[in-house]
Amino acid sequence: MAERKKKILIDFDGVIHRYNSGWQGERNIPDAPVIDKESGQDAIQWLRGLLQTGHFIIHIYSRRGSDPSKGGIGAMKVWLLKNGLEERYLKRIVFEKEKPESFLVIDDRCLQFKGKFFDPIEIKNFKPWWKE
Ligand SMILES: [Mg+2]
Repeated sequence: MAERKKKILIDFDGVIHRYNSGWQGERNIPDAPVIDKESGQDAIQWLRGLLQTGHFIIHIYSRRGSDPSKGGIGAMKVWLLKNGLEERYLKRIVFEKEKPESFLVIDDRCLQFKGKFFDPIEIKNFKPWWKE
């Protein structure tokens, strides 16, 4: 039996998009991809690598998608393509309508992003505290 794919939610601004310019509107994505502070790999390479493992379904979430009339989801897709993600990988990514604004996300199924992309094996083997 085929292994069931794990659904991974990834924040766009600050994890994929460098976001050093801060919020400039839904469609304005001015900065480069995040670069892993240890390996030098960029977010596009990381996303491609995650998809190539075949273990995950990637969902990208962002407040950019919350109002469809503002075109934020299309802008994220264009940005990913412009930064080198191939169409065949882009097609496999699900774009969520929003990420609720908050000071902090508290979640038992969460890895805190600190500038170093997570290894596919680390993601695949993640366990919430109550399963340890
Ligand atoms: Mg963010």
